[in-house]
This record gives sequence, structure tokens and C-alpha cells, in this order.
Amino acid sequence: MKFTFPPSAKPDTIAINDWMSWTWQLRHSLKSLEDFSQSFELTEDEVRGFAGADQVFQIRSTPYYSSLASRTNAVDPLRRILMPSGRELTPGAQAMLDPLGEKRNNPAPRIIHRYPDRLLFLVTDTCSVYCRYCTRKHFTGGDQAFVRSAEYDQALSYIKSKTGLREVILSGGDPLTLSDAILDRVLSDLRSIEHVEIIRIGTRMPVVCPMRITEDLARMIRKHKPVYLMTHFNHPRELTREAAAGLECLVDHGIPVFNQLVLLNGVNNHPAIIQALSRRLLFLRVKPYYMFQCDPSEGTDHLRTSIDESLEIQRELWGRLSGLAMPSLSVDIPDGGGKAGLVPNFEVEKSPGRRAFVGWDGVRAEYIDPAKSERLLPFDAETYSREWDELKNAKL
Ligand SMILES: *Cc1c(COP(=O)(O)O)cnc(C)c1O
Ligand code: SF4
Repeated sequence: MKFTFPPSAKPDTIAINDWMSWTWQLRHSLKSLEDFSQSFELTEDEVRGFAGADQVFQIRSTPYYSSLASRTNAVDPLRRILMPSGRELTPGAQAMLDPLGEKRNNPAPRIIHRYPDRLLFLVTDTCSVYCRYCTRKHFTGGDQAFVRSAEYDQALSYIKSKTGLREVILSGGDPLTLSDAILDRVLSDLRSIEHVEIIRIGTRMPVVCPMRITEDLARMIRKHKPVYLMTHFNHPRELTREAAAGLECLVDHGIPVFNQLVLLNGVNNHPAIIQALSRRLLFLRVKPYYMFQCDPSEGTDHLRTSIDESLEIQRELWGRLSGLAMPSLSVDIPDGGGKAGLVPNFEVEKSPGRRAFVGWDGVRAEYIDPAKSERLLPFDAETYSREWDELKNAKL
């Protein structure tokens, strides 16, 4: 079966050339109650959200993304992502401004360094849609469209000084809100650093403004290979014809694309939705990567699923979704503990030398477990051991 990717709902009054221009989309962002009330019949709860939520977190959407949400139905999944709610103002169970303790792992301006071999470089504060569940509300939505040059230099020096680093993840904000010329410069500067092997770009632009993905952009990124692009689709309805074209353009230019999703109450907390999303992404040659538990940032309690519910979804996907399309469930340990993988338990019994499992469709069997073996190093282990020790001993 092949999938169809329907076009977005462009209003007739807007010329196609405008609609397909990413700068037009950003210039015509919806920001105020007035803007949104032209495209949506707002509920009382949403109006309350506008009255206060900008203190919690800015409000913004591209015309493109808001055209995918329902005008009349307030419980529409995409509408829940982009539209503020009065519930954001209720103090949350764990309401944290900085759920990931990123301020603590912030050794240089714009740098979040939590693992020895990889770090985040927050190159902008701006996003083209402010997702109501955003984990980085204290950084995102600030006023820096691009890092100040003094901060940029300090961040770059930090990356140069940490020779144990292997990977730099551009994040923000959304790095693809920057122009091709600025991105080109950032990628060149990173590529000139000897120990940086891999560059990742974390972006939601392919979802909320897919017209950002142009041949020029893809060619520019390809120049700096290997660059991985991490995108963030949460729902199959976000996969429009425009989004599919953007993703195919990236992959056709040899840029590997991965998807990270967040499980959200009333948006995608059903295995059928995750399955549909993952199969369509795989069809477009995008590898589903992470499925995140929603972080307890300010004003997200009504959007969060319980860990048991998330595990249940992951469990139901096993056996019913190709391993190629399977995202791994993960929770960010609050206060900067890093990620923790959450794995559904298939093991039902454990005794010395014997482990018993029940498979996805109920087959029970025992695995006879050998004694723990001595670790025999293959003859050329020297090389790999050196790499391993280097990374193992690298300091943050
Ligand atoms: C998630 C994250 C990474 C990347 O982790 P991977 O498991 O390699 O995708 C790196 N640094 C920080 C601070 C992160 O939050
Ligand atoms: S695109 Fe990412 S950083 Fe920006 S608001 Fe959405 S979740 Fe937050």
C-alpha cells in the first residue's frame, strides 16, 4: 500500500508563490489573539490562554501549520500543539522552568554539555511555531535571532577546547529559522574543528514550515557532510505533500533524516497513531529515532502522559511495527540527569542460568543463559580500545 500525503489548506486569497516562500510564512506568523481569531473559533479556555500564556511562553504559528489544525474543533490534535490553553496557567505538579537542569550544564554561553562526546549548541532563540509542550521554555522564545558574536566566539572556543567531543548538535530555538548564509558559516566553522566528526541539526521546520527545505539548502548542508537532520513530527496529519517533498529533497541530497516525537495527551497517545506516523516516515526514508516522554516544563500537565501509558504504547508497537520504523521510548531525567531508556518488560521470570520471556503475542519460552564469559579481546583491539578509553576518560 502506498500512502497519500494531502496538500496543506492554503486559503484562496493567498498566492501560491507567497505560500511556498518560507520567509513569507515567517513574516505572516500568527502571534496575537486577533491573528488567531481570524483562523480559529476560539474557546473560552483558549482565550484565557492568550491572556496569560505569553508570560509562561510566547505564542506563534506559521499560517501553513495553523492551516493543518481544525478551525472549529478545540480538541483537534494539531490545535493542541499550537494553541495556548488556560490550563497552562495552573501551577503544575512539577512545574519546572528548566526541567533538564540545562542552566547547570551550561559551561559556555549557548552550550549545553551533558555527555562527554556530544553537546548542544543553541544557535538561536527563535522558532516559527511555539509548541505548547516545549521543554526549553526558558531559552526558547528569547530575543536572539542569532547568537551575539561575542557569545558565538566563546561557544566555538569551548568546542575547540574539548578534544573529547565528537558531535555537535545545533539546536535552539530552531536553527533552520536562520538564513542559508548564516548556517553555512556555522557549519563551516564547526567542520574546521579537527575533532568534530558529526554535526546534527535539530529542527521542526520540516513540520511547521516545510517550504524552508529548498534545493539550495540541501546542497549547502551536503557540502558539510556528515550532517544528520533530526526532525520532529508528532502526528501523521503533519505529513502533508509539502512536508513529504521537503523530506525527500533532504534524503535525495544524501542527508540522513531522523525523527524524534513527544508523546502527548490528546495528540498522539495511541499506538495506532504512532504506528501510522512511523510507517509513513519510514516510507519517506526518515528513521523514527526517539519517542520522548513529555518533560515537566511549566504549563504542560494537561499534555503529559503517564510513564505506564507510554510503556503500554511502546509494548503494543513491538510485533506490529517494523524494527526499522520503531522509535525508542526515553525520558529525560529531571535536573540534568540525561536520558533514560524506557523498555517494556517481556521478561517474566529469572533464576540462575534461566530467563523466561513472554513474546509480543503471548508465546512463553525460556532462554538458558550461559555463565558470564571472560571478555576476549580480538587481536586488533588495540585500536578500538584506544578510542574507547579516550572517550571514556573524556571530561565534560
Ligand atoms: C538528548 C541530548 C543529546 C543527544 O543524545 P542522543 O541520545 O545521542 O540522541 C545530547 N546532549 C544533550 C544535552 C541532550 O539532551
Ligand atoms: S520547535 Fe522545539 S524548541 Fe521550538 S517551541 Fe517547538 S519544541 Fe520548543
